[in-house]
Amino acid sequence: MREGLLEIFHESYRELRPASSLPELRISFYPFANVNNTIRLREGRLLVRLSDLLEGAPDAVLRAIAHILLAKMYRRPIDRGQAARYRKYIGGQELVRKAHLVRQMRGSKRLRPAKGNFYDLDSVFEDLNMRFFHGLLARPRMSWSQTKTRRILGHYDPAHNAIIISRIFDHPVVPLYAVEYIVYHEMLHLKHPVKLRGSRRCVHSAEFHAEEKLFPKLAEANAFLKHI
Ligand SMILES: [Zn+2]
Repeated sequence: MREGLLEIFHESYRELRPASSLPELRISFYPFANVNNTIRLREGRLLVRLSDLLEGAPDAVLRAIAHILLAKMYRRPIDRGQAARYRKYIGGQELVRKAHLVRQMRGSKRLRPAKGNFYDLDSVFEDLNMRFFHGLLARPRMSWSQTKTRRILGHYDPAHNAIIISRIFDHPVVPLYAVEYIVYHEMLHLKHPVKLRGSRRCVHSAEFHAEEKLFPKLAEANAFLKHI
């Protein structure tokens, strides 16, 4: 809980309702996706939820939001100056957050070299290309993931024309056929672009599944993946 926040709300309350006694106040910050501040009265208690965009806000801005919420609660006119102060701050914060999100997205797209410590994804790709695709697939950018993710083992990103493989596979205990299987799966995504069926994306079509079964060490690869 931020220091002084309760006092700010108490002061705003006294300004609005000097004659009535202070109710118990509970204030918490929530990671609201949109700027959303709420106030409710429950069993004589005022429950205030503030967007975490306000967590580091200067006192003047917190005074503004306290005034706005309490004025709404008790149906009093909202001071224009306070409303303007609040809106100005939130506008700026939203810009900062958006900029941060964009940076994060770009950051995750920063591709790593294809050559890892144990496996070179470019040569894995080319070898599979010759064995299964008559060398016909154009090689996208091959990249090891930045982190050792288990959630996403591999993915093809059409926007960046890149295949990203989880770094957990770049390890001596990982058999080549397991790396090949993950890359092969992503190569099938290259070969079978995502079709739209209604509004749902059909990512693995029947042809996709049929072709995936052609991978020679499919059973071994799946058995290995279960233990990774
Ligand atoms: Zn897939």
